[in-house]
Formats: sequence, structure tokens, C-alpha cells
Amino acid sequence: MPGYELFGAEERKEVNDVLETGILMRYGFDGPRKGIWKAKELEQEINKTFNVAHSQLLSSGTAALTVALSALGIGTGDEVIMPTFTFVASFEAVISVGAIPVMCDIDETLTLNPKAVEEAITPRTKAVMPVHMCGSMAQLDELKAICDKHNLVLLEDACQAIGATYKGKAVGTIGHAGTFSFDFVKIITTAEGGAVLTNSKEVYEKCDQFSDHGHDHIGKDRGADLHPYLGYNFRISELHAAVGLAQIRKLSQFLEMQKRNNRIIYDALKDVPGISFRVIPDPAGDTGSFLSFFLPTEDMARTAAAELGAAGITGNFYWYDNNWHYIRKWQHLQNGSFMSRLSEDQKKGVMHYSNMAYPVSDAIMSRCISSSISLLWDEAQAKDRGQKIADILKKVVAAHTVNA
Ligand SMILES: *Cc1c(COP(=O)(O)O)cnc(C)c1O
Repeated sequence: MPGYELFGAEERKEVNDVLETGILMRYGFDGPRKGIWKAKELEQEINKTFNVAHSQLLSSGTAALTVALSALGIGTGDEVIMPTFTFVASFEAVISVGAIPVMCDIDETLTLNPKAVEEAITPRTKAVMPVHMCGSMAQLDELKAICDKHNLVLLEDACQAIGATYKGKAVGTIGHAGTFSFDFVKIITTAEGGAVLTNSKEVYEKCDQFSDHGHDHIGKDRGADLHPYLGYNFRISELHAAVGLAQIRKLSQFLEMQKRNNRIIYDALKDVPGISFRVIPDPAGDTGSFLSFFLPTEDMARTAAAELGAAGITGNFYWYDNNWHYIRKWQHLQNGSFMSRLSEDQKKGVMHYSNMAYPVSDAIMSRCISSSISLLWDEAQAKDRGQKIADILKKVVAAHTVNA
């Protein structure tokens, strides 16, 4: 997924425009900034690229989730259904607004199983938050139908899936709101940054205000702005937005390269006995940033991951043992290791859901490896890598089959 791999003259030029004026802040200073508005320009570019009415840039993807949850009115005691497989930012944001993350089983799409979501709904459920993990997408039609039926908010965590589409629409623009992350390892980067995308004017205006201490941003004098709501500071800087402007113009090129290299690896692995692939609800909309596959057993997956590492083939993730992406290793959450005190009610809810057993998710994640796709491989390098991975997988599957 990494846009940082193709950082170059375009990014330097955009940043330089800002350095020339020295106006590093996105608001105000209308005269001295000499017409340079990188954050505003990037928001317009996002709206156009992803065909969405509004977007609000923020200081990170985690900030984007936090701001979106607040703007959507989610707070104390509300339950937010999210998958057991995601990055920790998803539950951090939910907890930060006083709500309770309700971990829910995934299926072989590697994100929310709609049936499990329906079973997880309680009278306190306010939102469903699918996470479009590893560049691919959730079953959005099914999840949207559930949200409509139960009058719930659908908030898409699309931080890892910038440029993915579902039935022709950009992911992140299908729910009530969606979020992108532009951190350093995402599909496009601003070094640090994020965005909320929404087609609701009301949600957008609340995001705009909340992320800048409640400023209503009406008129030209910041000091005279009114504050209809309390806010916080999750602003992005002009320097970061400038990098994003160069990156978003290269997004379609990044996606093309990723998809090509992904296809080459897929072709090398598709006939390996025993290997199956992540189910992608709309294959045409996949970003290609990862190729995720399953081995027949946990033992084989763990051995394969170790052998890939030992052979020096980097970028193959065995999430089941990863501290940051799967519930099994979120001991800080399960133990309630909060730096400051939560309400008893929130803490009880957090502990309850994070300590439940998730055997269905375990059975899927324990067999899964995600192989990341680089923008830097030419065709020959991708083929060589695919062949090497295929050889290791064949060997591992054959060895275990003989032993069995
Ligand atoms: C990266 C990521 C985030 C958080 O983004 P940051 O910009 O790093 O704060 C949230 N959710 C998912 C799924 C992510 O991968």
C-alpha cells in the first residue's frame, strides 16, 4: 500500500509552494499566503476523485475516526460494532468518545460477517463500523441493509482502502461517513494525516467545527468566529496537505501498479494445492495492496510465515501473532490498561466484549497470511517473488500432508 515508495519531485514542489510563503497553517492569513491553500485544494481533489460531496482533512486517520464518531453523535455508553481484525485505532477512537467497542466475528472477507453483526445488536448499539482491511472491502450492501433496518449509523473505516470501490462507488463514501488515513504506510501518504468523507452537509460541518475548537469558519476573521459546539484540535498542516496533493494525483497510477503486481503474485500462487484466497465482495474494486490467502491449518500457516521470513521474503504478515491487528494480542484492551479512569459503565462494557472468545475469527485468522504488494517491483521481480512464495507454500503443504 505504500505511496511513500514513490515520493519525488511532485511532492517536493507542492511542499515548496508552502515553504515559499511560510504560512504553514490551513486557516486564515489570507494576504500573506498569496493564494496558496493546500488543505482546501486537497479536500476539493478528494471530493472529485472519490465522487463525494464533502471531505474534512485531519491530523491522522485515528483523528478522522474520532471526529466522525463525534459528528455522528456517538458518545457515552453507545455500542459500536467493529471487527475482531483491524488496527487498534478503530477501538481507540470508539473508546475516546466514551463509547464501547463491540468486537464482532469476521468471515473469509477478513471483515465483518453480516450475520454476526445482526446477532451483536443490542438496544445500546448506535453504529456499525466495517473496516476495509488490507486494501479490500466489506460486504457493504448487506451491512447497509442491517443498518437501515435497525436505524444504525454506518461508519466505514476505509483507512487502508483508499481507491477501493464497491459496485462502482468509492469505499468510504457509501456509509453515513467514511475515513481515510494518510499515515506513512498507507496507499497515499501525507506523512501524518487523515480525512472524513461524507455526503451529509450536517456531518461535514460538524467535522469541520469539531476538528478546530468549534470554529464555525464563517467570515474572514478567525478571532470573530462563533463556536456553536465545543470542539478539539485535530487540524492538518499545510505542509502535510501539500504532500497529499502530489500523492492523490498519482493515486490511479499507484493502483494500476499494485493491481498488476498483485495479479502476478496471485497467478503464481493460485494453483498451489491447499491454498485458498480471501473472498473479495467486489473483485474489480480491490486496490491490490495485499494478496491475502489461507493455508489449510494454523500449523501450516505459522510454518509458512516463518519459512518466508527465513528465506528473506519480507512483507508477509501473519496477523494472528501480530500485536496490533488482531484481538488475540490486544492484552492492554483486555486488561483495561487505561492511563486515566473510564466510567464504570464504559470500562465494564469494554472489558466484557474484549474478553469474549472468538473461535470463528480465530479459525480464519490463524490460517491467514497477507502478502503486501510493492509499487517498486517490475514484472520480472514480481514474478520471481511469486515463484519463491509458491515454492515455499508447496513445500510446507506437502510436508504437513505427508506427516498427517
Ligand atoms: C492506519 C489505520 C488507522 C489509523 O490511521 P492513523 O493515520 O495511523 O492514525 C485506522 N484504521 C485502520 C484500519 C488503519 O489501518
